[in-house]
Amino acid sequence: MNTKVPIAWSLACAFVAAAFAQSGPSRPVIYEGARLIIGDTTAPIEAGAFVVENGRITAVGRRAEIAVPAGASHVDLTGKTVMPAMINVHVHIGYEGYTTWRAENHTPANVLDHLQREAFYGVGAVQSVGTSPTDQALQIQSDQRAGKFPPAARFFFMPGMAPPNGGPDAVLRVATTALHVVNEVTTAEEARSAVRRMAEQHIRQVKMWVDDRRGTYPKMTPDVYNAIIDEAHKHRMIVNAHATTLPDQKAVVRAGADVLVHMVQSDKIDDELMAVLREHRPYWATVIGLGDRSGACDDDRFFAESLPASVVSMIRQSVESKPLAPYCGPQTPNRERREEILAYNFPRMISSGARIVLGTDTGIQPGHTFGTGDHHEIARWVQLGLAPADAIIAATSRPAQLLGIDDMGTIAAGKSADFVVLDANPLDDIHNTRKIASVYLHGRLLDRAALLAKWQKTNTE
Ligand SMILES: [Zn+2]
Repeated sequence: MNTKVPIAWSLACAFVAAAFAQSGPSRPVIYEGARLIIGDTTAPIEAGAFVVENGRITAVGRRAEIAVPAGASHVDLTGKTVMPAMINVHVHIGYEGYTTWRAENHTPANVLDHLQREAFYGVGAVQSVGTSPTDQALQIQSDQRAGKFPPAARFFFMPGMAPPNGGPDAVLRVATTALHVVNEVTTAEEARSAVRRMAEQHIRQVKMWVDDRRGTYPKMTPDVYNAIIDEAHKHRMIVNAHATTLPDQKAVVRAGADVLVHMVQSDKIDDELMAVLREHRPYWATVIGLGDRSGACDDDRFFAESLPASVVSMIRQSVESKPLAPYCGPQTPNRERREEILAYNFPRMISSGARIVLGTDTGIQPGHTFGTGDHHEIARWVQLGLAPADAIIAATSRPAQLLGIDDMGTIAAGKSADFVVLDANPLDDIHNTRKIASVYLHGRLLDRAALLAKWQKTNTE
């Protein structure tokens, strides 16, 4: 699948010098005194310590029990809480330019900017789902792995499959069509050969849209999605299914889809879906926040600080309720109904064994932004009944497992030192994930002030 995007590699080259300056062996560092939230079912460690050498965690435990390596420098984190950097399995990277979503926006520089936004807010890896041009995305991934980018969230992506004219929402459709991004398939054989091409490129995941966008195109047939799932599984690939209705969710999970995206929004789920979930235990990327009132509606620095003032004021003026657009007006009956269904469905999805993972769908709506969307989503889970400790697992170790990222997701020896230092404990109040003191990626302190300065002087005109 070739794209016609000119790739601005001079940009990547400019980063090479910075990357070299950051490499090479470094002194060990011991981070001492913080509460450590491990990211899996292990109990937190109060007054903990951990050692980082060459970007990796080499020891974790109670402060008194950790041997200080010779020549180590000390970082005192007394009173702070440390958690693993989060991992978001569902975003749309590259098209957003604050208020436009265009093919022209999709440059390596803009992809990097979105990855930096996620990193700024404590997210260490993101996966762009179904909308990234494959050749360009593979190039960005390999350049990032080679250290050619400045520090940012690790970039993952998966191709998408849909019937002709199917695929993403209208917001992205024109751009993805211009770049020929979506694999349009009509028959089982076309579906299989598209999946085989992906497997040859060592792509691990694929998305399929099982939806007709309110009757605007014919839905993918069971014949086609069964072929996608079968062929993908033959190649040990993971299948993500966009399915938003109750019958479609039952059908795709029964057919063997590994990840459900979205929740059923128009109906209360029933015993039949719950039985199917119990049997198959799919991962589940909830994507709730996309339909919520934007955090930027209110006078909350957390949401506004990384956005130009003009965008914040545009969001705050949105008082007409429209799909996929910010809305800062009063509660509507539709939104009340949505809340009622969420409150009913969410705990039932969890108790039936859907394995919740962080996914936000950011990148298609100015009020639902890279990085802040992650914090919004996990707070929604807690509001809907999930324990904060489980919310953190679903934002760290479980998505690491889903994406096959062996060296992220927990604060443990052998892992990459990708962590967030918080001023307050999110186990007491999940909103405390927003009280970010600092972010470390691969053992390096992220220069959050420099990133903020860059964004605040962005001109959106
Ligand atoms: Zn999406």
